Amino acid sequence: MVDKNKLLENLKIVQDEISINKDYLTNLDTTIGDGDHGLNMYNGFNSFDLAEMSSLEISEIFKTIAMKLISTVGGASGPIYGTLFMQYAKQTNNVEAIDLNLYIKMNESAIEAIMSRGGAKFKDKTLLDVLIPFAEDLKNESLDIAKKNLESNLLKTSEYVANKGRASYLGERSIGHVDPGCASIVLILRSLI
Ligand code: ADP
Ligand code: MG
Repeated sequence: MVDKNKLLENLKIVQDEISINKDYLTNLDTTIGDGDHGLNMYNGFNSFDLAEMSSLEISEIFKTIAMKLISTVGGASGPIYGTLFMQYAKQTNNVEAIDLNLYIKMNESAIEAIMSRGGAKFKDKTLLDVLIPFAEDLKNESLDIAKKNLESNLLKTSEYVANKGRASYLGERSIGHVDPGCASIVLILRSLI
């Protein structure tokens, strides 16, 4: 169970991880995109002040983050991550803590919304390639196993051809490289809950 205070602590870890890994994310995006993913994520996750959120409910925290990401992050990842956090907000309306069942629902509705917003499906080399197996592991295995499998699911994205976003311009040449958005969502899912 993750209550509001624990969530804020975890979000601080996510902020730090995004900052520490800014160059790593940028390097991945330089290889198959336009080299802005690290900066996009850094700007997005530094656009809100967690200390100012201590009086907010869980759902309001997610909503505030969603709005900030949508307004600060340029590129494809802004609206996609905005959608993720907006669905987290919707699913946590009026709840005081997040348990495994709720976390499954949060991720399932995020997957559906991201798919309908960006039109990507599994193995199109987008952050869904990490998020979809994560939600399945949450449902069929456990939170621990879902987290343990994040890294291997990230590595698998190097086998896929990019069909969405800037990396799709490379076609088959995107094979052999991991997806930058998958690398950033690993950093988030590893620490959020
Ligand atoms: P941009 O591609 O506009 O430069 P970023 O570099 O910040 O934006 O983000 C790129 C990442 O966004 C990709 O690695 C991919 O994971 C994710 N992405 C791109 N398009 C989509 C989409 N249609 N659906 C889901 N995720 C996407
Ligand atoms: Mg980019």
